[in-house]
Amino acid sequence: MDIAVAVPALPGPGATVLGGAAVFAPGGKGANQAVAAARLGGAAGMTIAMLGCVGDDEFGAALRQALRAEGVDDTGVRVAAGVPTGIAMITVDQAGENMITVAPGANRETGAAELDRLAQEPRLPGAPSVLVISAEVPTAVIRAALNQEGRLTVLNLAPAPPAPGAAALLAAHPDWLVVNESEAAAILGRPVSGLTEAATAAADLVQAGARNAVVTAGAAGSAYRATTIEQNQSGGTVAAFPVTAVDTVGAGDTFVGALAVALAAGIGPADAVTAAAAAAATAVTREGTQTGMPRPADVHAATGY
Ligand code: ADP
Repeated sequence: MDIAVAVPALPGPGATVLGGAAVFAPGGKGANQAVAAARLGGAAGMTIAMLGCVGDDEFGAALRQALRAEGVDDTGVRVAAGVPTGIAMITVDQAGENMITVAPGANRETGAAELDRLAQEPRLPGAPSVLVISAEVPTAVIRAALNQEGRLTVLNLAPAPPAPGAAALLAAHPDWLVVNESEAAAILGRPVSGLTEAATAAADLVQAGARNAVVTAGAAGSAYRATTIEQNQSGGTVAAFPVTAVDTVGAGDTFVGALAVALAAGIGPADAVTAAAAAAATAVTREGTQTGMPRPADVHAATGY
């Protein structure tokens, strides 16, 4: 659950500031990405299901309700006893600069039960089953999920785990790795800024084990590196669609959800990254994180894609 408060200026250490009314909104990277996928892929008949944990509290119930309202199957979201639902405490100043503290709570309970449930998920013949994982659950669980066979895997290493953990996850060969500039920088141990460096970073992340990698670079766009079945590599950059940004929170989550939908539809790397960029650009034209996520008609109206 995101709890956001607007303040005139961010408080320094030891300081207290008075802000506006607290705004409660469903969040969490996995849930955001599931909602993006549902809005974009639901109409095409795709099934989107969420696995993870919430606490036995009001926030947990509200988050599951929000998923159901978007058509996301929440039967794999477990209520973990004795721990609170994960929250993000967000403070935003007038310039849009923010400070975020996450209390993972029940997310840390995601484990064997979810991996068993994942193993039982049907894999439809002829239609790729896509598993999207972000890094708000324990690293060991991510690795075990990546190692289950028969699915296309999309790993969003956000927030980026410490370097050794990231290396071990890349060594599990996710089909797609998606990271932003700061996550790429944390994984590679060097600054990554702008499309040229994003392209080099994507190539290095493929070298480190990802089969395909995308590095997103905010309003500059994104760069990708792809590996074909014949082991040939291709890549390129996709400029951001020109839009008027209103709220950039959730751009990355929309990008990941949209990429997963495009891959599930069998779309190739260059077109899938372009579709993801169009959806993410549309999301930044709209207020709110989950509420701002677009449907196909919204993407077309905002970007012409
Ligand atoms: P995150 O939200 O994870 O930090 P980014 O800021 O890199 O991710 O944004 C992800 C993608 O969203 C970008 O690669 C781009 O395609 C799109 N995007 C982000 N900001 C804008 C913007 N201002 N205008 C158009 N597209 C944007």
